[in-house]
Amino acid sequence: MMPAEIERIVSQNDIKYVLAQFVDIHGVAKTKSVPASCLMDVVEKGAGFAGFAVWGMGMEPHGPDFMARGDLNTFSVVPWQPGYARIACDGYVNDAPHPYCSRVVLKQQLARLAEKGWTLNTGVEPEFSLFTRDEKGTLKPVDESDVLDKPCYDYKGLSRSREFLERLVESLQAVDFDVYQIDHEDANGQFEINYTYSDALTSADRFTFVRMAAGEIANDLDMVCSFMPKPSSDRTGNGMHFHLSITDKDGQNLFHDADDKSGMGLSKLAYHFTAGLLAHAPALCAIAAPTVNSYKRLVVGGNASGATWAPAYVCYGDNNRSAMVRIPYGRLEFRLPDSGCNPYLVTAALIAAGMDGVERELDPGEPMNVNLYSLSLDEIKEKGVSILPQNLNEALDALEADTVFTEALGNEVVSEFLKVKRAEWVEYSRHVSDWEVSHYAEF
Ligand code: ADP
Ligand code: MG
Ligand code: MG
Ligand code: MG
Ligand code: MG
Repeated sequence: MMPAEIERIVSQNDIKYVLAQFVDIHGVAKTKSVPASCLMDVVEKGAGFAGFAVWGMGMEPHGPDFMARGDLNTFSVVPWQPGYARIACDGYVNDAPHPYCSRVVLKQQLARLAEKGWTLNTGVEPEFSLFTRDEKGTLKPVDESDVLDKPCYDYKGLSRSREFLERLVESLQAVDFDVYQIDHEDANGQFEINYTYSDALTSADRFTFVRMAAGEIANDLDMVCSFMPKPSSDRTGNGMHFHLSITDKDGQNLFHDADDKSGMGLSKLAYHFTAGLLAHAPALCAIAAPTVNSYKRLVVGGNASGATWAPAYVCYGDNNRSAMVRIPYGRLEFRLPDSGCNPYLVTAALIAAGMDGVERELDPGEPMNVNLYSLSLDEIKEKGVSILPQNLNEALDALEADTVFTEALGNEVVSEFLKVKRAEWVEYSRHVSDWEVSHYAEF
């Protein structure tokens, strides 16, 4: 029997199919289409998948099935695909939560906080690039013809992609996202969409839904919506900042303290949590910036529009958009992740790192309230600030060396992540690019 509220959504929206959805280790949505009459089977037993067919599930072709068990709290219509609903699922194998499933991994970290009566809230800021394909199949930014030195907030760019943006916003609003802003970002064809924060599990489910919506709405309009971290060499990449706060049972923000002498409005808890993020930054980087391409966004150095807007240095600062952790006021903004990340794993890793800082009462030191982009590497070093890993391999080494993540997230998911990502790095390293040929062919 379906709960009455679900029954009402199904009948009012004439839902015929439910997408039983989970994500692979990359954060990419995987689904089965289930006739609505079979929904409760998915909730109680799960939809069966051959886990070996999915990246990072730690499964073999001769083992048991991966069962994606629906979480009824996430049931919603799929507005861009009438007649369909979506339910986010947790992975189960042999009736036990599967330690390789990123939603399961996140829920275990959230349970650590729940034991203390705490809820982590995250507000994410997805950035993405809209492309069309030319006759040869090459991707071109939708507003490539308006090449501006500073395309950020450009009216023409926003206006000319409004059909896509309106469809996306309306789809998200239809499932209760509180969308409050959409803007053209600092690269041609690049946009950001903002909606009000929620508890961290809901935020991760929602970001997955945003990627599903944006990808399909773009496809319907003969466009490609890309969440690739850095699509073009000289323009800003697609970041996905995570704003963070922890609330207690009464909804009080435990990261906020109005008496904080620094003026940043942070509590002791928030300082310790920040210190944990700084202490584990190199390893966190592997999970927050998980592709070869991510490091083209994070790299030290400038950009055509003036700034990369991405962090290169391990520090925090008062409303400082050049630091890894910006303090807007009374909460944290972790600026390292990009839109190519797995939001479940990033959130789980943030808890692991932050809570290590809380448990060991680490001190984040003084905030860096300077434009870090304007300093030389020597000046950065003089300030005692370290540089983030500059490629995926360095970040993976840091993750492998940092036992906090293995202990908190589990050896299964961390080893599997390292295995999949090391293979990606080796494949990339073997590739000879156009840049190499043009530099070395006749030198
Ligand atoms: P900016 O571009 O200045 O970083 P945005 O407005 O794009 O800011 O995004 C801010 C995000 O932070 C939103 O998702 C917002 O809902 C979220 N946010 C606001 N307050 C909190 C809070 N207390 N805890 C977590 N997230 C928050
Ligand atoms: Mg089959
Ligand atoms: Mg923003
Ligand atoms: Mg932005
Ligand atoms: Mg931001």
